[in-house]
Amino acid sequence: MAAPIRALVTGAAGQIGYSLVIQIANGSVFGKDQPVELVMLDVPFCAQSLDGVKMELQDCAFSTLTGVEAVTDEAAAFKNIDYAFLVGAMPRKEGMERKDLLAANVKIFKSQGKALAEHAKSTTKVLVVGNPANTNAFICAKYAAPKIPAENFSAMTRLDHNRALAQVAARAGVSVGSVKNVIIWGNHSSTQFPDVRHAKVQKDGKEADAYTAVNDTAFLQGEFISIVQKRGAAIIDRRKLSSAMSAAKAACDHIRDWHVGTQQGQWVSMAVPSDGSYGVPEGLIFSFPVEICPQSKKWKIVQGLELDDFAKQKIDVTTKELLEERDEALKACEAANM
Ligand code: NAD
Repeated sequence: MAAPIRALVTGAAGQIGYSLVIQIANGSVFGKDQPVELVMLDVPFCAQSLDGVKMELQDCAFSTLTGVEAVTDEAAAFKNIDYAFLVGAMPRKEGMERKDLLAANVKIFKSQGKALAEHAKSTTKVLVVGNPANTNAFICAKYAAPKIPAENFSAMTRLDHNRALAQVAARAGVSVGSVKNVIIWGNHSSTQFPDVRHAKVQKDGKEADAYTAVNDTAFLQGEFISIVQKRGAAIIDRRKLSSAMSAAKAACDHIRDWHVGTQQGQWVSMAVPSDGSYGVPEGLIFSFPVEICPQSKKWKIVQGLELDDFAKQKIDVTTKELLEERDEALKACEAANM
């Protein structure tokens, strides 16, 4: 039997956590034959409900789950982990300014970056889900360096990617599995650029470009983009709660692909440290199309995609927002003498 994978979920007593931990525990992420030790972290105030989640996981009697811990202490949470799903974050409260939200999250992700450096393995792979996800990942990576390389840090845009797949499929009249290679560029925010210029659709027994299959350029360059950008707000409007089931599913997709690799000829969207590709400033945690090698488990930004002026202008907008967020977060680090 393989050695267990030790996976941490922060914010595990929250909404996304509740949908996420069951999928990690039942083998949907690392495989049906792969033992998993699950560590769940939340704040002390949530200790009791976290304990309830632990009891439910035990009662699920999954053969893949070889251990489950519920903790409120970062040192215990980050010890020897292989994967971290960083979901817990400070939510935006009414009247809170963006810079106050950033400052609160800088504190959390600085502390968790340090905990990673002190207690986790140097090979640990990290997915940041908690918002503002890209900038939180940037701060976390900064404080986990040099022990854990920047390439091991990512932020989640897979939910946006999945939303784009679903929208194209519905419009082209095919099932979602018949669509591939959509791209989310940039920030996990309303400035993101969902791009289907290079996407392919399997329809009527042959592969077509998404633009041909959908046959509605005005939709793909207008309504489609704003539907994907604003989908989170539309769900809050209906559910009065933010996306949780779909966010947890996307987090599982993200880590599963990182662990097992992407299929030949397919890419997925992941926010990863830029290497300067497509003119994005180096180091910025930016969503790109990536391919993941099944053997090395390393991601690579897909190169050589042609960008027209429409795409370049959209990518500029989201880059600018991310640079501003990064600078504000770094200022918050300084102000708090961090
Ligand atoms: P939630 O409020 O239900 O749960 C968050 C949990 O995190 C709470 O239990 C809270 O106690 C915990 N927490 C807060 N600070 C913590 C800390 N320092 N350490 C450990 N735990 C901590 O929220 P949710 O709906 O589960 O969403 C979680 C985060 O995910 C939010 O920031 C949300 O905006 C974000 N999100 C991201 C995406 C994405 O696509 N990237 C999608 C949906 C939601």
